[in-house]
Amino acid sequence: MDVYGLIGNPVEHSLSPPMHEAAYDALGMDARYVTFEPDADDGAAAVEAAATLGVAGLNVTVPFKRDVLSAVEADDLAAEVGAVNTVDYAADPPRGYNTDVSGVRRAFDHHGVEREGAAAVVVGAGGAGRAAAFALAEDAVSLHVANRTASRADSLATAIRSALPDDRDTPTAVSAGGLDSLAERVPDADLLVNATTVGMESDETPVPAEHLHEDLAVLDAVYAPLETRLLREAADAGATTIDGAWMLLYQGVEAFERWTGEDAPIDAMNEAIRTELR
Ligand code: NAP
Repeated sequence: MDVYGLIGNPVEHSLSPPMHEAAYDALGMDARYVTFEPDADDGAAAVEAAATLGVAGLNVTVPFKRDVLSAVEADDLAAEVGAVNTVDYAADPPRGYNTDVSGVRRAFDHHGVEREGAAAVVVGAGGAGRAAAFALAEDAVSLHVANRTASRADSLATAIRSALPDDRDTPTAVSAGGLDSLAERVPDADLLVNATTVGMESDETPVPAEHLHEDLAVLDAVYAPLETRLLREAADAGATTIDGAWMLLYQGVEAFERWTGEDAPIDAMNEAIRTELR
C-alpha cells in the first residue's frame, strides 16, 4: 500500500484526505492519505523523517511551506515562489513543488477565463498571494499586488520582476500597494484574486463592492464558506465568480499526477471536496 499525506499545524479540518482518497477509490488504487501535525518548528525534520518511513508523497500546508524548502530539492517555480506544498519521494533527494500556482491557473482555465493579456490584481502577499501572483504574472499584461502590509506587497512585486524572463517584447507591468490601491486598480482589472484570510468564516470582504464590475473574473482562495461575501458581491456586479474549492481541487490534481503518473479523476475529487463543504 502507498502512503501519502499532509503535514501542517493544524490539519484537523483539511479537505485533502477525502479529496485524495476519492481519487484512490475511483482508480482502484491500494493507497491511503493521512495527516501529520508536527510542532510548529519541526516541518523540515518531519519531511526528512517521512522519507525514512517510506511515505510516497506529502502535501505541505501552513506553517511549513517555507521551512520545507531546506529539506527538498525544489523545482524552479517553487524556489521562485519561496514555498513548497508538494513533496515527491520518488526522487532522491525528494523533489519539492508548488502546485498552488497551477491551482490558480487551472481554476481560471476551468471557467473559460482568458489569462493571456489580462490586467490582474492579487489581494494578499502571504503564501496564497505569492502563488497567485506568480501564477498570473507571466501571461498578464499587468499585475498589481495589494496587501494590508504594503511592504510585503512591494517585496513580492520585486521577486516577480526578477523572476520574469527579461527578453520579452512587452514585459508585464508589475506594481504594488496597500489595500487603498484597490480603488484605482480593480475598476480596470480583468482578473482579481483574493488571497487574504478575509472572508474566512466571516461575512467580510477585502474589496469594496463599489469597485467590482461585470468584466471581472474573481477567484476567492477562501473556500469556507464557498460563497464568500466577495463572491456574492462580485456576482451581483455581473462578474464571473470562482470559489476557492476550484483552486484547492487543481493544486491536489497536480500533486496526485506528480506522485502517481496517472491522470487524476478530477470529477471524483471535486465531488469529494464539495460534499465535505456542503
Ligand atoms: P498567510 O500566509 O497567513 O497570509 C495571510 C494574508 O491575509 C496576508 O496577505 C495578510 O496580510 C492578509 N490578511 C490577514 N488578515 C487580514 C485583514 N484583517 N485584512 C486584510 N488582510 C489581511 O495565509 P495564506 O496561506 O496565504 O492563506 C490565505 C487564504 O488563502 C486563507 O483563507 C487560506 O485558506 C486560503 N488558501 C486557499 C487555498 C486553496 O487551495 N483554495 C490554498 C492556500 C490558501 P498581512 O501581510 O498584512 O498580514
